[in-house]
Amino acid sequence: MNFEPSNVFALEKLNNFIDKNLTDYSKLRNFDFGPNKRSNISCLSPYVTHGVTNEIEIIKKVLEKYSFVKNEKFIQEVLWRTYWKGWLELRPKVWEDFLKDLTVIKKDFKENQNYLNAINGSTDIDCFNQWIKELKNYNYLHNHARMWFASIWIFTLGLPWQLGAEFFMKFLFDGDSASNTLGWRWVAGVQTKGKNYVASEWNIKKFTNNRFNSIKLNDNPSPIIDDRSYYIVNNDFDNADLSISDTLLIFENNLSFEKSDFCNKSFKNIYFIFNDNGNRKIKLDDKVLNFKKSLVNNQIEILRNKSINCKMIDINSLKDMNENLLALYPTVGENLDYINSNELKNISFLYRKIDQYSWKYCNKGFFNFKNYIPKIINEFI
Ligand SMILES: Cc1cc2nc3c(=O)[nH]c(=O)nc-3n(C[C@H](O)[C@H](O)[C@H](O)COP(=O)(O)OP(=O)(O)OC[C@H]3O[C@@H](n4cnc5c(N)ncnc54)[C@H](O)[C@@H]3O)c2cc1C
Repeated sequence: MNFEPSNVFALEKLNNFIDKNLTDYSKLRNFDFGPNKRSNISCLSPYVTHGVTNEIEIIKKVLEKYSFVKNEKFIQEVLWRTYWKGWLELRPKVWEDFLKDLTVIKKDFKENQNYLNAINGSTDIDCFNQWIKELKNYNYLHNHARMWFASIWIFTLGLPWQLGAEFFMKFLFDGDSASNTLGWRWVAGVQTKGKNYVASEWNIKKFTNNRFNSIKLNDNPSPIIDDRSYYIVNNDFDNADLSISDTLLIFENNLSFEKSDFCNKSFKNIYFIFNDNGNRKIKLDDKVLNFKKSLVNNQIEILRNKSINCKMIDINSLKDMNENLLALYPTVGENLDYINSNELKNISFLYRKIDQYSWKYCNKGFFNFKNYIPKIINEFI
């Protein structure tokens, strides 16, 4: 499995998947055949997370070739990301509380042997140890493996979900504040309160093609209890006035300006903001930071070839820029935390049209959101 940090590579991957594998997606997508047999899924998430490709581009390409009805499952999965993003945007305190909890829990578990065995892949659960290796080697895990992994972490190894979510963020090339935090909360049973995801031996064996033996798991655990309720506090996603600045900031989630809703406005400067580990609460693995940096460099090369003036700058230099600045909205996560905690009030946001339109439907569960998918498609495709 190979994730080249390049726009061309991502597009080839997308086209190739649609041409050769999409028709079997709904039948085969739950199988984890191992890191070298990934053709049953798209493996696009490292690129979608960074905005190298995006939901609209993917769904458009699918519908150019096939009908909606035949590919509803894939389209729904693509829009899960949009839904999780919107859900967290409406309730940003979930992210804030996750990071606060994590700070406390990390201190408590620093020398916990169970935790150290888990992150070093030396538990007595063979499949779990293999997934640790796979995650560190390839910086990716199949969706089903993420669910089993998180379930084993929480319910068999008895570790807090927050530590697992941190571990994923550290190593995943597609690490995303919304999909990851809410994915872990969902497995734990705190996202849909009282409904946890329980991994079982037969399910793992079936969907890994019997690659693992003797998987002794806690198969009757109770969901994690978290009494905190989160109310919708934010639903204002109006764009700033484009005339306030001719400088645009772009963070790691929008690395394809030429495909963005604002590509027709000519900015005097475009700055790509690089956030290394100095300011991150969750320290990323070097391979993940290098992947992000290479994607930024690739994007800069593409824009410079179109004579667009742009460069990469360190996030700390934002503190020295006092003029009004426009930014493609970085979404709830470490980059927005940096802007808020440094009170950089001179930065105003521009939102993706699909987010402005879809996030209002993220007030309830995904089954409710699903009803609006035809409307979303009608609006953008
Ligand atoms: C505990 C846990 C943690 C996760 N952490 C992340 C994360 O940090 N970043 C991340 O991008 N995804 C995360 N996911 C969601 C999902 O596992 C990945 O998006 C998916 O495995 C990516 O592989 P793919 O591109 O081959 O997906 P495909 O099956 O080919 O799906 C196509 C696209 O749809 C989107 N998608 C599919 N499933 C989901 C999903 N469940 N949630 C959100 N979007 C989805 C992705 O953009 C994906 O690229 C997590 C899931 C769980 C259970």
